[in-house]
Formats: sequence, structure tokens, C-alpha cells
Amino acid sequence: MRHVPDKQLLLLGGGHAHLNLLRRLRGKAPKGWQVTLVSPHPRQIYSGMLPGWVAGHYALEDCAISLVGLCERAGIAFAQTTATGLDLARDEVLCADGERRRFDLVSIDTGPEPALSDLLGATDHALPVRPIEGFIARWPNMQRRWKEHTRPFEVVVVGSGAAAVELAFAIHSRAAREGVSGVRVCIVGRDAKPLADTAGSASRRAMHLLQARGMQWCGDRTAVQILPRCIQFERGADLPFDACLVATGAAAPHWPRAAGLSTDDAGFIRVDRTLRSVSHPQVFAAGDVAAHVDTRPKSGVFAVRAGAALADNILAACHGAALREWRPQRRALYLVSTGDGRAIASWGALSASGRWVWICKDWIDRGFVRRYQE
Ligand SMILES: Cc1cc2nc3c(=O)[nH]c(=O)nc-3n(C[C@H](O)[C@H](O)[C@H](O)COP(=O)(O)OP(=O)(O)OC[C@H]3O[C@@H](n4cnc5c(N)ncnc54)[C@H](O)[C@@H]3O)c2cc1C
Repeated sequence: MRHVPDKQLLLLGGGHAHLNLLRRLRGKAPKGWQVTLVSPHPRQIYSGMLPGWVAGHYALEDCAISLVGLCERAGIAFAQTTATGLDLARDEVLCADGERRRFDLVSIDTGPEPALSDLLGATDHALPVRPIEGFIARWPNMQRRWKEHTRPFEVVVVGSGAAAVELAFAIHSRAAREGVSGVRVCIVGRDAKPLADTAGSASRRAMHLLQARGMQWCGDRTAVQILPRCIQFERGADLPFDACLVATGAAAPHWPRAAGLSTDDAGFIRVDRTLRSVSHPQVFAAGDVAAHVDTRPKSGVFAVRAGAALADNILAACHGAALREWRPQRRALYLVSTGDGRAIASWGALSASGRWVWICKDWIDRGFVRRYQE
């Protein structure tokens, strides 16, 4: 009997949306399909818990999901490499290990790139929060430096969104927890207020807490260049620092657009409500790398929510069945930790803060990771 070669399903990136699919594949890999996950790292660090790790609330294992483990349990292949391009004429993924991997279906959940293109010197003289593994590797050096410092140690965090604000609070708390005095933390953002994308009252709560803890907020300042010891802005005086972190938001990787996939103006892959590329039906995408027809902010909440629909539709596509539409919820609950065992919640126009918010966040985050760790 002639051997019929398996069809190839490639999953690029072990992001929030793919985790759901990897779990669903356990014992149920589609017949006649060979499935491979391509990821530069054998684990996925849950970004929602990263500030808690910085603050010292979590060990790294608490925040890590083993992608190799998920693949083993699903009985699928794991390729430790990075996708660097797509050849859509041949249906191949180009990888950093030099391989070209053929596919019949490909699903992309590779997350965002750090938004650094408008900020000269950021990769040389600052510590970008993404890629997260790079941040984790360089974080101990920052701790060593502030311990060795004899005069005040000035930390500047560039960015005004939730990630920047959480990290700033986490750093401030970590220094205090380690008994290191003289670590001063300043957040610099192009928005007038911190957490500008959340409820106005959440932003005011953040501002109030920053002031109460002696931290500084410098709003309405667009950083254009980072030099070895100072930041330069579009307007106004330079800001000196001892250490600078950058959490300026999400940019698109260059290779989806370069491959000829339809993208939005920023380069994110345009998908319809079934999470299928609007230009290439053999391509699915979800999470921050995708531009859904119902535009939503780039956030882990929406990436997780997309996961169930993505898993349904990838499996349906493998079986030649009909796809279902996914309409993202209008609002998401944002929980911003403040490093001191408290957090700020923001839902639409409403907000709240306190110890109980942190307890909820901790419970939700640990529960999410545990679901994939077992
Ligand atoms: C410090 C911090 C805190 C945050 N907190 C929250 C929060 O509390 N709530 C919230 O909603 N959002 C939060 N976010 C935003 C959230 O992290 C992102 O929106 C979310 O990670 C997007 O998920 P994703 O599935 O698109 O990609 P990711 O979670 O980024 O995963 C992408 C994966 O793909 C891999 N990858 C990357 N490039 C390639 C490639 N070329 N080939 C193969 N694999 C690749 C990566 O290694 C990674 O494993 C936070 C972000 C940060 C930085």
C-alpha cells in the first residue's frame, strides 16, 4: 500500500492562545496530521506574573509553563528555534536553525516585538522588558548594581502602560524588601498620566500611590534616544539614570508583512472572525501578532480568550469542518499589581484597589499557570 504522507500543522510560538490548543491536543492530535511547535525557548513565562517575580512574590518556576512538557503530553514535536520568515508560494516557514519547514496549515502566536524603533540606543543602553527571557537573564545584573551602589541609584522606567507601571512598583518594592536604600524610581511616559488606557480613576489611583511611595511620574515626555547614562526627549532636558528599563508597548514583527500576508498599517496580521488570515487561508493567527477585525487592545486577556476559538478552528480546519466565529468581549478586566501585596483593578469606567485586588489577581494568575503545568 502506498504511504500517504502526513499533513503538516506548524504552530509558531507558545503564546497565550496556543497554550489552549496544546492542552486540547492531548491524546487528540488530528489523524493524518503531524503537529510541530516552533519556539525559541522550551518554556513560556507568563507575563502577567513577571512583575510579581521582580517584586519577589514568585519564584521563576511559579511563572513558567513547560512547552516541551505540553508537547510531550500532546504527542507532538517540539522544534527549538525561531521563525524568521514565511514562503507562502511553497508553504514553508524559514527558521533560525536553517531549516525550511513545510506546512499545510500554520498558526502564528508569536506575540509582539518590543516597540523600540523610535527609541535609539534602547537595546544597547537600556533593559527592554521584551523579549522576556532576555529581561530575565539581565535582571540579576541590575540587582547586583544597585547593591554595589554607594549613592542613590536612579532607575527610570520608560512607558506609561500597565507593564511599565507594574514593573516600576515591583522594582521599588524589591529594593525595599532587600533592604537596599537609595533606589529611586521614576516612570517616564508620553501620556499625560500613567495607565492612560484604563479608567481615569485607575490612573488617579496609580498616581496617588506613586506619590505616596515617593516615586516619580514624568508624563507628556516622548523619549527619542537612550545614551549610556541619560535619556533624551523630543523636548525638554535630558534625564540621567543609573539603570533604564523600557516597556513601551507592542510592535509587529517584520516577517509576516514581508512574506506578503495582509497586515494592518502597523504590520500585524489581519485575521477574520475565525482567526484566519484574510489573505491566505492556510494561515491562522491570534494574540498580539494578529489584527482582529474587531479591534481590541494588545493584551494577554484577549490573547487567552482567542485561544479557545483558535483551538476549535485549527482542529476543524484539520478535519475539513466548518469554522466558528469569535467576537472578542468589549471590555477586559485589568489587574495592575503595585508590588506591595496590593493591586489596582480597572473595568471600563470603574476601578478599585487594595489587598483584596491582589489576592484575586494572584489567584487568577496562579490558576492560569497551574492549568498548564500539571
Ligand atoms: C511585564 C508585563 C506584564 C503584563 N501583564 C499583563 C496583564 O496583567 N494582563 C494582560 O492582559 N496583559 C499583560 N501584558 C501583556 C501581555 O504580555 C501580552 O499582551 C501577551 O503576552 C500577548 O500574548 P501572545 O500570545 O500574543 O504572545 P506572547 O505571550 O508574547 O507569546 C509569544 C511566544 O512566541 C515566542 N516567539 C516569539 N517570536 C517567535 C518566533 N519568531 N518564532 C517562534 N516563536 C516565537 C515567544 O518566545 C513566546 O513564547 C503584560 C506584558 C508585560 C511585558
